[in-house]
Amino acid sequence: MQFLNLEAKILEILKYLNIKNFRLAKEYNEMPVDIAFVEGTPTTREEVLKLLTIRKESKILVALGTCAVTGGVPGLVNMMAKKEAMEVYDGFPPDVPIDPKPLEYYVNVDYNIYGCTFSKDELIELITSLIIGKEYRDKEYSVCVECSLRENNCLLDDGHLCLGPITRGGCKALCPNNGKMCLGCRGPYEDANIKGHIKILQDMGFTKDEIIESLSLFSYEKFKEVISWLKEE
Ligand code: SF4
Ligand code: SF4
Repeated sequence: MQFLNLEAKILEILKYLNIKNFRLAKEYNEMPVDIAFVEGTPTTREEVLKLLTIRKESKILVALGTCAVTGGVPGLVNMMAKKEAMEVYDGFPPDVPIDPKPLEYYVNVDYNIYGCTFSKDELIELITSLIIGKEYRDKEYSVCVECSLRENNCLLDDGHLCLGPITRGGCKALCPNNGKMCLGCRGPYEDANIKGHIKILQDMGFTKDEIIESLSLFSYEKFKEVISWLKEE
């Protein structure tokens, strides 16, 4: 849908790219392709096989959005016992693997577009880079950097559990700009001091359960090691 939301810009993009496969907008779809954009995370074996086929039939694979990049909210079921998870996914055949993972768990991913929903600006930046052969780099700084540049009041100072310090920037601090704490939808960036931020949150009075709940919402698969550490601490 975000592709369609590009509106006039998609016409510009179509001067350079031919869309060969797009179930939402095309009746006849073809493979192979040069660039495949894959959103969501597989939750059935059939979807895993489809992902493997897409990887085989594309030169560049882009994970699009939080579920594809971190496992997203579906990854929350990995926290639950299998029985509970089966109840959540009532109606699925029992042999379905209920272990939503980032796409990179199954296939080689060339680029990630982060966020829920992901940023149209970053999508255009990546497509433009691919067209002109320019290197595209992930943002390797936190949401706090963008938040501070906008001179927002820090929500941590007001006692809110904000994940901005450990979350990958690029959304231009969308939530804090609107007085809402960052829920970490873009996942952690490489050098994030996660344990340091957990310590700050504990010093502020947040319980382990509150911190684990917050870390797990969008990126359980990325935080599961630190969550295990926190549980045992
Ligand atoms: S409000 Fe959140 S994102 Fe903004 S500076 Fe404070 S901790 Fe960082
Ligand atoms: S502020 Fe945090 S939760 Fe909000 S869009 Fe940015 S990364 Fe996602």
